[in-house]
Amino acid sequence: MKIIDLRSDTVTKPTPAMRAAMAQAEVGDDVYGEDPTVNRLQSMIAEMTGMEAALFASSGTQSNLLGVMSHCERGDEYIVGQRAHTYRFEGGGAAVLGSIQPQPLDFLPDGTLDLGEVAASIKPDDFHFAKTRLLCLENTQEGKVLPLDYIRRAEALARGRGLRIHLDGARAFNAAVKLGVPIRAIAGHFDTVSICLSKGLGAPVGSLLCGSKALIDKGRRWRKVLGGGMRQAGILAAAGIYALTHHVERLAEDHENAAALAEGLAEIDELGLQPSSVQTNMVFFSMEPSRFKSLQSHLREQGILISGREKVRLVTHLDVTRDDIRTAVQSFKEYFAKR
Ligand SMILES: *Cc1c(COP(=O)(O)O)cnc(C)c1O
Repeated sequence: MKIIDLRSDTVTKPTPAMRAAMAQAEVGDDVYGEDPTVNRLQSMIAEMTGMEAALFASSGTQSNLLGVMSHCERGDEYIVGQRAHTYRFEGGGAAVLGSIQPQPLDFLPDGTLDLGEVAASIKPDDFHFAKTRLLCLENTQEGKVLPLDYIRRAEALARGRGLRIHLDGARAFNAAVKLGVPIRAIAGHFDTVSICLSKGLGAPVGSLLCGSKALIDKGRRWRKVLGGGMRQAGILAAAGIYALTHHVERLAEDHENAAALAEGLAEIDELGLQPSSVQTNMVFFSMEPSRFKSLQSHLREQGILISGREKVRLVTHLDVTRDDIRTAVQSFKEYFAKR
């Protein structure tokens, strides 16, 4: 039985061609800066994002932390979404390891932060307050694409108020593909951008922090401090190069599959799902937590994996085909027809 894993786009397995690229990778000691494949990956993403430099990190959590720690000193503050990955789902790393205080704000329903609220939360220069140093956005935010015009206005606010601006772009390529623009059209508005290779791009491991040479040099120092200096990491970087070469344009297929999934599920009244809310590779719906468990086991019997509780998130990716979507929709319908 084929497993149809809709829990996350992190569950993808490297394809045979990606594994072949990994097996053939030329390697060296990357802590010495001598891994040619890591260097190639870093130049490649720097070129794509229009940044001066980039750094290969072990995870998105690490590359976000490197970004925040490279912008902020002890006693500084960053403004961030209340439900942003950087704040909520990274173990509080910036506070724990960087002595950097978060100033969380609620996301608006479209995944943006209200810029009036951002402006109002910037602390005056007064020793009673932490020094507000950085604005951190997320794109995509729960599958939602930040409008380019919004990004421009956020950048203008940050620059005008002397803040740096970081993007948690774990899925920034999904946003770029959805908007039909090159990634640099998004990345160009930020001082640093963190991009995950291990989500929709389908690499097994790795993220990239992109920014100015000075920022990336700082990031490299913190990466070593955090124990993230890897040696013959070219084996992993080769997967990243493969992903950036072959798996960017195809993200559109994941978006189409998510739309098809949402359309199918919208026919189930109990899910109250609005297909128009789906922008990229994520579909959300709500259901009674008590019924979720039995739905989950019904699907699991047919090899379909989902996770969640009140709010259920389904994610499409490289290992989910259009046929899988049909199978999944049918299985959801069977469950709800029975009750
Ligand atoms: C997955 C993710 C990250 C990084 O996660 P890692 O598992 O540490 O690679 C960062 N931000 C967002 C929005 C993510 O979805």
